[in-house]
Amino acid sequence: MALIVQKYGGTSVGDPERIKNVAHRVARFQSMGHQVVVVVSAMSGETNRLIALAKSVQAHPDPRELDVMVSTGEQVTIALLAMTLKEIGVKAKSYTGAQVRIVTDNAHTKARILSIDEANIRADLNEGHVVVVAGFQGVDENGNITTLGRGGSDTTGVALAAALKADECQIYTDVDGVYTTDPRIVPEARRLATITFEEMLELASLGSKVLQIRSVEFAGKYKVKLRVLSSFEEGGDGTLITFEDDDNMEKAIISGIAFNRDEAKITVLGVPDKPGIAYQILGPVAEANIDVDMIIQNVGADGSTDFTFTVHRNEYAKAIEILRKVQTHIGAREVSGDDKIAKVSVVGVGMRSHVGIASAMFRTLAEEGINIQMISTSEIKISVVIDEKYLELAVRVLHKAFNLEQSGSPVLV
Ligand code: ADP
Ligand code: ASP
Ligand code: MG
Repeated sequence: MALIVQKYGGTSVGDPERIKNVAHRVARFQSMGHQVVVVVSAMSGETNRLIALAKSVQAHPDPRELDVMVSTGEQVTIALLAMTLKEIGVKAKSYTGAQVRIVTDNAHTKARILSIDEANIRADLNEGHVVVVAGFQGVDENGNITTLGRGGSDTTGVALAAALKADECQIYTDVDGVYTTDPRIVPEARRLATITFEEMLELASLGSKVLQIRSVEFAGKYKVKLRVLSSFEEGGDGTLITFEDDDNMEKAIISGIAFNRDEAKITVLGVPDKPGIAYQILGPVAEANIDVDMIIQNVGADGSTDFTFTVHRNEYAKAIEILRKVQTHIGAREVSGDDKIAKVSVVGVGMRSHVGIASAMFRTLAEEGINIQMISTSEIKISVVIDEKYLELAVRVLHKAFNLEQSGSPVLV
């Protein structure tokens, strides 16, 4: 007998028919003798609908009230699934995040899980119930409802699996595993049977929304056995996230390509080239709680330099406004920006032992006439910022150049 946590995303619970499919799969696992905890998202489109509704009355919705509102999406699904399970004769019980007591910090709309009280869930499981938990939500120490950021149900699933010391956490979604890149952009993308935890962490942080990054972090910290599977097809093995250092010689040097359209670029032109300038620019941005991603400072000429960085597109206008206020104080000539950029990244642990990946990437983009605006690298990834309109082209040509359609093929350099 195993304890399994299964998480189903929005499309997988998008209508009563699909919820019925989920109920039947859950019932099958239970009839095999397993204990099952199910985490569900809101029905597809529901979270977006609720956010739009909030924005129709307040342009920048109050974060506490927004959490009260969007958390209702998941509350509907847990009840629907529990009722459907009962209809087919399975003992089931639903819980909101607050009812479980999934305690988070108080950072509304992007809260972090601090603790989970698993006693009630365990008691229900021991009594033969399937336990159905609302993803994406928790409660702070004062009882305020919080949410975990978009895609946060993945994190609820993995965090519950960690708290319950589950044998496996299965993330059921609308694709049958983790692919070399988003199969909606590149139809030739290939499903990976396994991917290392490190690579998955990079892909998730660089924009592959198949898993929320915090769910991968949890899996790493608590060594949760994590698998991504299709909720529409039966019998596949999906993709297993592995922890051991894979010395497999046949493994591709590049595992995948991630992309992110949510970025915007800001340049502060003609700042004095002297100590303290980076701090004077980024200090006020950090104080406004705006995350900065890539940073470039050009070599100074004539005592002045240009300073460029990227932020989330939602925070672009705010960041520009802040910098225009401090522009004169810093001694900058101009503050300019572009919110039509995108970031494309190639990821692979094989980069550690192979040279030439960056040059192959840059050559491929050059051959398509795609200008690279910014570059950043780490041990296992190379990211470039390009004009958003070339994003899909860039992903497709890189996927081909690195031969990702073919299993285990070497990189073309
Ligand atoms: P869910 O609602 O089940 O949580 P998401 O929409 O959040 O599903 O995530 C699944 C989607 O992630 C897929 O439909 C796919 O378009 C996208 N995706 C992005 N990158 C990848 C990748 N490398 N492999 C698989 N899917 C990916
Ligand atoms: N319903 C939330 C969202 O759409 C959480 C999730 O689906 O994981 O972001
Ligand atoms: Mg998701």
